[in-house]
Amino acid sequence: MVSLIKQPHPGERRMIFKNIDRPGWSNDIESYLNDGGYEELKKAITMQPVDIVNEVKASGLRGRGGAGFPCGVKWGFIKQDGPKPNYLICNADESEPGTFKDRVLMCGDPFAVVEAMTIAALATGCEHGYVYLRAEYPLAHERLANALAQARTAGLLGPDILGSGLHFDIELRRGSGAYICGEETALFESIEGRRGEPRSKPPFPVEQGLFGKPTVVNNVETLVNVLPILERGGAAYAQMGTEQSSGTRLFCLSGNVARPGIYEVPMGTSLLALLDKAGGVAEGRRLQAVLMGGAAGSFLRPDQIDLPLTLENARAAGTTLGSGVVMAFDERADLPAVLQRIAAFFRDESCGQCVPCRVGTVRQEEALGRIAAGCGKQGASAELRLLDEVGAGMRDASICGLGQAAYAAVESGIKILQLYGPPPAPLTLP
Ligand code: SF4
Repeated sequence: MVSLIKQPHPGERRMIFKNIDRPGWSNDIESYLNDGGYEELKKAITMQPVDIVNEVKASGLRGRGGAGFPCGVKWGFIKQDGPKPNYLICNADESEPGTFKDRVLMCGDPFAVVEAMTIAALATGCEHGYVYLRAEYPLAHERLANALAQARTAGLLGPDILGSGLHFDIELRRGSGAYICGEETALFESIEGRRGEPRSKPPFPVEQGLFGKPTVVNNVETLVNVLPILERGGAAYAQMGTEQSSGTRLFCLSGNVARPGIYEVPMGTSLLALLDKAGGVAEGRRLQAVLMGGAAGSFLRPDQIDLPLTLENARAAGTTLGSGVVMAFDERADLPAVLQRIAAFFRDESCGQCVPCRVGTVRQEEALGRIAAGCGKQGASAELRLLDEVGAGMRDASICGLGQAAYAAVESGIKILQLYGPPPAPLTLP
């Protein structure tokens, strides 16, 4: 088998990544069962659904995507005695540029994904689940399909799981390469066979989601955290990290670092320490900036990297952990060109459903292009003013997170990195 992650990086503390590359765990349920796999599901079957939800609430686990919504609270919104069916979706449409952790989890520990989904289904009364998988992940598809088949044969999925009378099965659906289908309501549209366009919220998915039914959506990393929560207990899990950001987090380090890859560290580890674990800036060059959270994230300056990596600290610093992207740029990087590339990405990926995003992403790319070309008769300050107005319109009036975040990286390039000189004065209402 091709190794996915060879050894823990120096100073890493692996919890959900501890079994990646364990012999047999990627493709053989016997190996998984013989070495402690499915113990948490056996435990969950002896518990009441509400007790599973309460353990997850006690753990403080928050979604490992962008919003960081408390996972147990989300599960608790599903009424156990409400109308059925309920659906569970594992969002595996990992499309944020610079993110690759869920791929490695699915390829290296697919039975853990299936086991965690089964526990989540027990807790929320779902009998049918979906993995919505990024089309560009053929190995993950192969490994998950194999894991699902073996789990069914072993009586760990399907009717009467482990003789408990509980029924749950999982369908594997492949996306078609659209970034927007990672947005949960666009994902519903895609599964239902329509064009992937986000829905307005409310109603929220826990009330009216897939096929109009109550639906829980979590991404791969969030779900896999349920296993150590049941193993240790929610309160013990909450001891790791900080009060508002518990547990560990997978960070995808890329760009100009000496040892790029995925690092699992306790929440609260500083960005400086994380970059240090990755060997710092490659070839001893000077750090110019760090992009946090991917294309939908924002840049930090080198003097800001002593930042504890928690949701609350990131928010206070005006940035985001997003889906765990940490992309370093050294002194050679052409950051205005990077901003143009990000703007082109959002222009391409906008679904076009609402005007602020459909038009704004185009205008943003055009303005950056004019600045790169020397601005013509308008001048850079007029273009920066235009970018700020367009960006505010996208952030405040777009239907979904794509449009709302499409200006974030560009804005940080202008205001935090000051790539084009002094930023424009803040917008004031007339
Ligand atoms: Fe589509 Fe953009 Fe509107 Fe989201 S914000 S619905 S991606 S046009």
